[in-house]
Amino acid sequence: VRIRELMEARRPFVSLEFFPPKEREAWDGFFGVVEKLIPVRPLFVSVTYGAGGSTHAHTLEIVSRLKTAYGLEPMAHLTCVGASKDKIRGFLGALAQAGVDNVLALRGDPPKGQETFVPDSEDFQHASDLVAFIRAEYPNLCLGVAGYPECHPEAVSPQEDLEHLRHKLALGGSFAVTQLFFDNDRYFDFVARARAAGIDAPMVPGVLPVLSLASIKRFAALCGASLPPAYMAELEAADAAGGNAAVAEVGIAYARKQAQDLLRRGAPGVHLYTLNKAEAVLSIVSGLEY
Ligand code: FAD
Repeated sequence: VRIRELMEARRPFVSLEFFPPKEREAWDGFFGVVEKLIPVRPLFVSVTYGAGGSTHAHTLEIVSRLKTAYGLEPMAHLTCVGASKDKIRGFLGALAQAGVDNVLALRGDPPKGQETFVPDSEDFQHASDLVAFIRAEYPNLCLGVAGYPECHPEAVSPQEDLEHLRHKLALGGSFAVTQLFFDNDRYFDFVARARAAGIDAPMVPGVLPVLSLASIKRFAALCGASLPPAYMAELEAADAAGGNAAVAEVGIAYARKQAQDLLRRGAPGVHLYTLNKAEAVLSIVSGLEY
């Protein structure tokens, strides 16, 4: 089923993002996490796409199992990293065979150790190239794209970044999922700017629970998300007093409040970056009205 149609039918909703575990031995544990999250009734579940070749096969296998074994509506992420027309056709053909109807079309980040993104192919330099290619060859797939409330770090300006988002959607993207952010006003400002620019697609806010101070500092810098100073101070105090366990308690409580506020103020749903952690997600959605 196409996610855009599901979004029309059910609002607000929760959706969940997973990453494929690197090691095969970790798969049983991973599917155990998925099972624990069935009661969340996610509108859809998405699976990330890594920079390495073998992880593409994992993305494929996991989305198929999420559909066939658990009855979940999956979305496979797909990037331009290492892309060629034939490789993309191979991936999409396998998705079609597995009955997967949804793809998140992305450019991808520079592989580890590389500072800037160097396209592997002239055909796939921006996410919009992937959207246009998929739209032409697989017209029935529902395509999501990424949006950036705080602007993509490489963008020339917020205006141009928004123009690129408009372009991806005009070429055939049906909705956007946002990069993580910690100040909901940033999201609502972004949606207002998008609407003023003529974008009418649903914009699903992405919410990440902070579970470790060191990793969020690294990751937020990488993706251009800012941490409000009061929140950062709270996380630092928790880290000093009780390490990761204390940080996670603060981070989960913050994500729960963030999700509640987003839905209360009219977001169509919340997309939770689960980090493959069942308890954190269950705690975030407890008491959430959707
Ligand atoms: P684009 O839309 O191509 O934009 C990238 C940059 O180029 C922006 O600065 C944009 O303004 C600019 N730009 C766009 N089009 C043009 C143009 N025509 N001319 C000039 N400049 C242009 N990464 C992964 O590797 N795997 C994943 O599974 C994954 N999942 C993600 C899920 C979500 C919800 C989000 C928000 C991000 C995800 N990412 C993932 C990260 C993503 O790949 C990076 O943020 C990447 O740097 C940009 O991807 P994009 O699709 O937004 O790129």
